[in-house]
Amino acid sequence: MKETIYERALRVWHKTPQMLQVIEEMSELTKEILKNVNRGKDNVDELIEETADVEIMLEQLKCCYDIKDKVESYKAEKLKKIEKRLDDWEKTHDK
Ligand SMILES: [Mg+2]
Repeated sequence: MKETIYERALRVWHKTPQMLQVIEEMSELTKEILKNVNRGKDNVDELIEETADVEIMLEQLKCCYDIKDKVESYKAEKLKKIEKRLDDWEKTHDK
């Protein structure tokens, strides 16, 4: 099977720097969200860029720990719980 870009990045640049990069990208996204929400900054372009960066790094994290399938199934379960909570919320609150 052909190596993905995520696998290649891990092989070429190694685990520790790549996992630190995950943290760095998450903090960049955090900063942009705070600028938008706290300071009302028009930074949708930055939000797009940093969201893409984080998604790319999360793909590498899943490769790194070989947890892609488990994350997928946990996510599906979690989304069902969120949906149930939303259903309950909307039954008891004004829409
Ligand atoms: Mg970035």
